[in-house]
Amino acid sequence: MPIKPKATKSVAKQTAKKTITKKATLDFVGGWSYAPSPESKDHIRLEKKYGHFINGEFVKPSAGKYMATHSPSTEEHLADVALGDAADVDKAVKAARKAYDTVWSKMPASERGKYLYRIARMIQERARELSVIESMDGGKSIRESRDIDIPIAAAHFFYYAGWADKLEYAFPNRTVTSVGVAGQIIPWNFPLLMAAWKIAPALACGNTVVLKPAETTPLTALKLAEIIRDCGLPPGVVNIVTGDGRAGAALVSHPDIDKIAFTGSTDVGKIIQKAIAGTNKKITLELGGKAANIIFEDAPIDQAVEGIINGIFFNQGHVCCAGSRLFVQEGIADKVIRKLKDRMETLVVGDPLDKNTDIGAINSREQLDKINHYLKLGVKEGAEMWQSSCAVPRKGNFCRPTIFLHASQSHRIVQEEIFGPVLAIQTFRTVEEVLEKANNTPYGLSAGVWTDKGSKIFNMTSRLRAGVVWANTYNKFDPTSPFGGYKESGFGREGGLHGLLPYVNLK
Ligand code: NAP
Ligand code: MG
Repeated sequence: MPIKPKATKSVAKQTAKKTITKKATLDFVGGWSYAPSPESKDHIRLEKKYGHFINGEFVKPSAGKYMATHSPSTEEHLADVALGDAADVDKAVKAARKAYDTVWSKMPASERGKYLYRIARMIQERARELSVIESMDGGKSIRESRDIDIPIAAAHFFYYAGWADKLEYAFPNRTVTSVGVAGQIIPWNFPLLMAAWKIAPALACGNTVVLKPAETTPLTALKLAEIIRDCGLPPGVVNIVTGDGRAGAALVSHPDIDKIAFTGSTDVGKIIQKAIAGTNKKITLELGGKAANIIFEDAPIDQAVEGIINGIFFNQGHVCCAGSRLFVQEGIADKVIRKLKDRMETLVVGDPLDKNTDIGAINSREQLDKINHYLKLGVKEGAEMWQSSCAVPRKGNFCRPTIFLHASQSHRIVQEEIFGPVLAIQTFRTVEEVLEKANNTPYGLSAGVWTDKGSKIFNMTSRLRAGVVWANTYNKFDPTSPFGGYKESGFGREGGLHGLLPYVNLK
């Protein structure tokens, strides 16, 4: 059951006590709350132990070692999964190579497409189960896993299934061939969705894959392995090796990998680039971000406030494209901040499986410690911290939605990726000023612009150095739309027609 803030103990909360500058502004806050409405777990079937998925079956890890995966909200032990090493990776790459040489690269493209359609349909059929497991293992709210992660994962398979036999139209007047075996490494913030982003285009183009899910969220990838097995995909076309960063590193440096697709932190992205320097491996990197969400005076303010909320508090702020820097034009700053605080007071933090929950659990204790470190740092740097007074559960990894007022460009909370529900707010006067500030980070993944004027939108979108710019909306994803970064946010695009390019050779 949720409890009131005073009973909590984390660093963030202690700091918050000192720095909270207000009380709830809405009369009803604290006066009532929604009755709990938890999604049932009765239909979930988890094995006690999972091996790697290699060559169409679950196999024991070579060294016999396993690691536990837990729920970050209840701290419950969910399952043990194989702790992969270089020998497991080698076995998986060999299976992928064999499947590539003997079956998948030779199969008529329309047949490949049929398998992808089948996977998409089976994800839809098992959507409820997958959503619940995603929320249990990763901590995200069931509303998000049910309405965003799982449907968009299925949509990616549907979308790329359609391309499989139309590659000559995607790249007219070119000869299109597959690349070979792809090594794919994904993070914990959108576990099944990232697996779909990686696997669907690779398979559509005739490649086989070895995927390494994140250490803290392996379960939906293993459920996907079940789906892949049940849909009769030829053995070895998709292999899933679980484990920690060492399994990822072994995959990157395996000599028989033709292409690396990595989504994760900029630091690991740099390590991977060094590791493959001098080889022929193709690579795409989707890395961190520090997006600017820019609100002009002529913006529809209530919609913009919802956009700010969605931009940073969606998925606990565990989003590479989170709108973690807010720029508000001076004339409306007071109004926007007042409305933002009012709205934040209504956010429900708690049980990820409860359908009323807006903000679920922070994915790991390590990530919560990192967020708390930044909360202390922001206060030390001189910004003014304000947190919603909403109740948070005593057990599990939770963080109150937080904003920093009077942040400045030089603050680390403005420059560095926090990956949590923490928003740094600055004001601006002119278009030139906000462009200068918005572009002044090492990242360039995404941005948001809120204004009534179409011309202003076009001016901003062409001058913001970000791969994705949303106008009068935020955090919208669609398989037809390419996604990727500038600068230290990486290179290469996933999604859309562009997402085929990393998985083909063109002549
Ligand atoms: P991470 O630490 O970089 O890990 C990402 C993946 O790489 C995990 O599977 C990780 O395994 C593995 N890994 C760790 N060390 C490795 C190494 N030396 N060689 C190969 N693989 C290695 O990132 P994260 O903390 O999981 O995810 C958060 C980061 O991802 C954020 O920076 C976020 O911005 C970024 N992200 C970017 C996008 C995008 O599209 N641009 C999307 C989502 C997330 P373990 O989990 O076992 O450590
Ligand atoms: Mg977990």
